[in-house]
Amino acid sequence: SNNKHDKDKGVNVQVLLRCRPLSEDEMRVKMPVVISCHENRREVSVVQTIANKQIDRTFTFDRVFGPKSQQKELFDSAISPIVNEVLEGYNCTIFAYGQTGTGKTYTMEGGGRKAKNGEFPSDAGVIPRSVRQIFDILEAQSAEYNMKITFLELYNEEITDLLAPDESKFTEDKGKKPIALMEDGKGGVFVRGLEEEMVSSATEIYRILDKGSSKRRTAETLLNKQSSRSHSIFSITIHIKEYTPEGEEVIRCGKLNLVDLAGSENISRSGAKDGRAREAGEINKSLLTLGRVINALVEHSGHIPYRDSKLTRLLRDSLGGKTKTCIIATISPSIVCLEETLSTLDYAHRAK
Ligand code: ADP
Ligand code: MG
Repeated sequence: SNNKHDKDKGVNVQVLLRCRPLSEDEMRVKMPVVISCHENRREVSVVQTIANKQIDRTFTFDRVFGPKSQQKELFDSAISPIVNEVLEGYNCTIFAYGQTGTGKTYTMEGGGRKAKNGEFPSDAGVIPRSVRQIFDILEAQSAEYNMKITFLELYNEEITDLLAPDESKFTEDKGKKPIALMEDGKGGVFVRGLEEEMVSSATEIYRILDKGSSKRRTAETLLNKQSSRSHSIFSITIHIKEYTPEGEEVIRCGKLNLVDLAGSENISRSGAKDGRAREAGEINKSLLTLGRVINALVEHSGHIPYRDSKLTRLLRDSLGGKTKTCIIATISPSIVCLEETLSTLDYAHRAK
């Protein structure tokens, strides 16, 4: 939770819950709804009777966003304060966690409407809104700054650079740029060979998102819906030049990671075998490790198992210490998703 008490302890993990609305198709077939959101009480209830078994559970979060909640509302009330912390020099991470089809990409990137005359569409998600806020504030301060974007995908513990130049130009080694996770010798890691894009206006972000997302889509058709099993990490690094009262130049650095996690559903339960089951194990490994890392941070346990997955190694400089973490857990209101919804609510609740 984000209260003062936690600040004193030096840990700041916020958990938000967002429930998407029923889709048009679901409404057409009058899909039963099993979720009710009480935004004021910050509670989500699951009520259903299945085969004489009564389920009646209520979960509390830092914030709850019901099916009618808009992108702007979620951003302004929950994300915007975190973006301000990034400009103060914090490293912050925002995760979207949930079953495939519950709105992780919608929340992070947006609903897919195009920007018009430099204006954001109303369904613009957390990524474009964060970038715009950063620009607005820095421009208002007439700050000297630069802003770099990286966008990568983690699939089966392998990193793909979503901003790498067109692969057809690199036929020699199958178009793959050598991407490697390296230790920097100071306890941190960096990704060698990762493309960094400088951005100078907020609307440019759509070019970068399009570039990365289309690369993700291509991979999806090639590798059988890869995107639901891969994590994508969109990182914004900002360097701001400042002067001390003595006139000395200092650089303040902040970083914002926006992470669209792999679908949290247990693939092996759906009957997948062999390669896919192993793959499911790898995905669950990074999701489970992330859960353990966040738990360890919240509970101040001595050992934080960063090293147990690539995801947590990659995000190490932004998890724990002087950082802020926000998890947006996404769920569907439908009865069909009930079992997965309960496991998402449990996972997200434990992270608090
Ligand atoms: P995920 O990334 O978790 O697999 P998506 O973001 O692709 O899920 O969402 C699945 C579908 O539901 C998309 O068509 C998306 O536009 C729609 N959707 C998700 N969340 C919302 C929401 N809060 N409001 C309206 N539509 C939504
Ligand atoms: Mg998605």
